[in-house]
Amino acid sequence: MSDVIRKSVGLGVAPNLADYAAYKRQFTWARARQELDGLPGSQGLNIAYEAVDRHAHTVRAIHAAIRWLARDGSKREFTFGELSLLSNRFANALSSLGINAGDRVFALTGRIPALYLAALGTWKHRAVFCTLFSAFGPEPIRQRMNLGEASVLVTTPALYKRKIIPVRADLPTLKHVILVSENEGAPPPNTLSWDALMEASSDAYTIAPTRPDDIALLHFTSGTTGIPKGAVHVHEAVVAHHITGKLALDLHPDDIYWCTADPGWVTGTSYGIIAPLTNGVTSIVDEAEFDAERWYNILQNHRVSVWYTAPTAIRMMMKAGLDLVRQHRTPDLRFLASVGEPLNPEAVRWGVDAFGLPFHDNWWQTETGGIMLANFAAMDIRPGSMGKPMPGIEAALVAQDKAGRINVIENPDEQGELALKAGWPSMFRAYLNQSDRYKTCFADGWYLTGDLAKRDCDGYYWFIGRKDDVIKTSGHLIGPFEVESVLMEHPAVAEAGVIGKPDPVAFELIKAFVSLKSGYAANEELRRALLAHARHRLGAAIAPKQLEFAQSLPKTRSGKIMRRLLKARELGLPEGDLSTLETST
Ligand code: AMP
Repeated sequence: MSDVIRKSVGLGVAPNLADYAAYKRQFTWARARQELDGLPGSQGLNIAYEAVDRHAHTVRAIHAAIRWLARDGSKREFTFGELSLLSNRFANALSSLGINAGDRVFALTGRIPALYLAALGTWKHRAVFCTLFSAFGPEPIRQRMNLGEASVLVTTPALYKRKIIPVRADLPTLKHVILVSENEGAPPPNTLSWDALMEASSDAYTIAPTRPDDIALLHFTSGTTGIPKGAVHVHEAVVAHHITGKLALDLHPDDIYWCTADPGWVTGTSYGIIAPLTNGVTSIVDEAEFDAERWYNILQNHRVSVWYTAPTAIRMMMKAGLDLVRQHRTPDLRFLASVGEPLNPEAVRWGVDAFGLPFHDNWWQTETGGIMLANFAAMDIRPGSMGKPMPGIEAALVAQDKAGRINVIENPDEQGELALKAGWPSMFRAYLNQSDRYKTCFADGWYLTGDLAKRDCDGYYWFIGRKDDVIKTSGHLIGPFEVESVLMEHPAVAEAGVIGKPDPVAFELIKAFVSLKSGYAANEELRRALLAHARHRLGAAIAPKQLEFAQSLPKTRSGKIMRRLLKARELGLPEGDLSTLETST
């Protein structure tokens, strides 16, 4: 194939995965596990121990683990030794609050140091950690905290006021709210002060025996229908986080690594917290939102060597132009990677123009817990392709017959559903309280990802689209049902249908179609009021950007809104099979 970018290996640093085929042949997950320590005395496997404590017992104790860049330009650095002690304090704080192993600790904070300490302390205490995206509105927060039966919430005074107070009475399981505040003042009623708790807690903590299949993490993700799904991950996932960080992101101990994802989404946890720490590198954590110039300054001034970001951000940088990049020098950059949405070939190549290095696309999802397909450092890149399976991962394209049996597609370039042989360490172990939904993700020993793809004759995988109606906007997976439900709460709305509409920067933007109850007029004022209602309840990340009125929405005979048809009509595409369409529409 001619459209290939030859392997890009940073000067002087040999890639961890030098020979893909040979490494894949000899790889076993048991061997990958050997790269970690395990709790002393064969007491099991705990994510926080592998992430910080094992380094804190070595010379790496004084190595910078997290360099936090505050929005205001100040910075704070935490060594592995400090992270170990501070997370011990949080584990003790949980203990003093009567929190037990298995209890749920939620965080809604944005990217501040307390988030990272809370995650590590929670894992040490063998409680379950769940981060929520701080741009969520009160409704998605309420729903997820109730589904996850949150016992503890770590948040900030501002987020507490705007997003928790309006729903606190509807959070029956929530026992403690811990506020991370920069002000010295007394915390508001029914809250605790993070500083006071940490101050009062000892920095000595012994992690109790942790089984590899003890639950560590809960990540909410969206489906086409119904409530969000809580994907359950276990401590053993750390084996996959570690080895994928080493092989797919090519992390070396002296790297300065920057993952731009927010821990409110799975990438920000697996690769913004766990993988860099287990690999012993220095991680940049930037509190601020995207700003092209700020980002180039970070790359330059903090001498970032490995950078993991997302297509929407890359496209925004492309829009900001090459001149701005060229005002900065980034000689330390060695490896660029991207995840979350399809990465256009132009974006891969733009990396070469802007930084002298291509972006390496990789693919995974909340359920897989870690990177499954990647363009590895020592492999030629096919721009537009997601790469090849991780060692230890058996991937295939499949079709399911009517009886539910799986047929593996062997022919190159034939479309199928991307499937992974079940059983890797970071595979989700359940959808919280939805065992039937979990079971339907598996057939004949394969996990069915819901993504359609094809594979070329050299084994590279190419993304085609989703099998269902979920929407990817700015890297975030959004379930249309959640948006429709909130629109339906408005007294004027009779029906709502929500689709993802292609967008040159955000990949998709959320568009709502709404039919009104009688007595309401479809005018600009109401359109704005509905958009504002959705934004207020859902938050900016989930709310629709566009809204159009319709007399009625196309439905199946069983009454389901046909989003596929709404989308086809919106995009002027063929309407496809209409045999189930209710004829009055
Ligand atoms: P999430 O569970 O929110 O991480 O979203 C996972 C979904 O994002 C996948 O199932 C894909 O549809 C999409 N996705 C992730 N990475 C890629 C990629 N490299 N190329 C295309 N789509 C991707």
